[in-house]
Amino acid sequence: MINVLQSISVKLEINNNHMTKKEQHHKIIILGSGPAGLTAAIYAARAMLNPVVISGREAGGQLMITSDVENYPGFPNGIQGPEMMDLLRAQAKRFGTEFVSGDVVDVDLSVRPFNIVLENNEALTCDALIISTGASARWLGIDSEKEYSGKGVSACATCDGFFFRDQNVAVVGGGDTALEEALYLANICKSVTLIHRRNVLRGSKIMQKRVMDNRKIEVMWDTVVDEVIGDSIAGMTSLKVKNIITNKVTEHPFTGLFIAIGHVPNTKLFENKLNLNKSGYVNVTPGTTYTSVNGVFASGDVQDNVYRQAVTAAGTGCMAAIDAERWLAEQSSI
Ligand code: NAP
Repeated sequence: MINVLQSISVKLEINNNHMTKKEQHHKIIILGSGPAGLTAAIYAARAMLNPVVISGREAGGQLMITSDVENYPGFPNGIQGPEMMDLLRAQAKRFGTEFVSGDVVDVDLSVRPFNIVLENNEALTCDALIISTGASARWLGIDSEKEYSGKGVSACATCDGFFFRDQNVAVVGGGDTALEEALYLANICKSVTLIHRRNVLRGSKIMQKRVMDNRKIEVMWDTVVDEVIGDSIAGMTSLKVKNIITNKVTEHPFTGLFIAIGHVPNTKLFENKLNLNKSGYVNVTPGTTYTSVNGVFASGDVQDNVYRQAVTAAGTGCMAAIDAERWLAEQSSI
């Protein structure tokens, strides 16, 4: 039988599919460097498993585009998302975590050890894999949104809000992300209009109260975005919206549109390789981080479409490292 606890080895290999140059073997690889991946790394490193974290283009995950994190225990005055990620990364490094940057373009979970191919064709193998690839912002899916992306349309107020100083902007969505974006933009912009498709907000009560109490924010209920209007030089100049009760379309002089309508799990790589639910999230055995493939574990938003908090992501990252450590120990005793 295959010994899954191979020591680190480097070998040259030509892979039929990917022409890989180099293959490096590790006991445990963690895909993703948000709170889930980095917490898994801290625990795995402290268990002497020499983890490797592969961080892709969205290194640090969604907290890198979050301003104040006020609900993570231990920070009574709140902390900025990017600062929190720097601290977690430093903590993971302190115990010997190795970091590799680059997007993963393919995984083979049908072989042992598992095979991970990076965009530069480098291949790494591992005995246990923790998937913490998180979720990414969802877009409305209308043509004009793409056309004006970066020219008025954005999915990140903390990244782009500065460009809309003293302007009239709109935010789409009714969840905590939209409420947070609206509040952030209200500090910078002349006015903020929150466009929501229903007449009830989904976000937390405390955030709803802050939005309702803010004189710069107005809510357009039962309304959806119809079209972004603009030109190639000025960018977005106005927005057409439709009231879904009256079907009336109106045009408003907003020069910025921030889309905050939720997220999609980053699981494209795992389609047909792992059991995913109908929304694309990784299915795990309830109460654990075990996926449908033995030796593959999932933590954070990639397997959670309910709680989706930094603290729950970190919690499941810890669980994944402990599950992987115990699973590896069982394999070596077989
Ligand atoms: P969410 O809670 O899923 O809310 C998405 C919002 O977008 C909903 O109001 C939804 O409308 C609307 N929406 C979805 N698709 C749409 C479409 N095609 N057109 C128009 N509207 C659309 O997502 P989220 O706000 O990103 O929050 C995700 C999780 O992160 C939540 O658990 C939230 O509590 C958490 N979070 C926490 C904080 C914080 O505590 N600081 C900050 C941000 C997020 P419906 O309501 O009609 O479905």
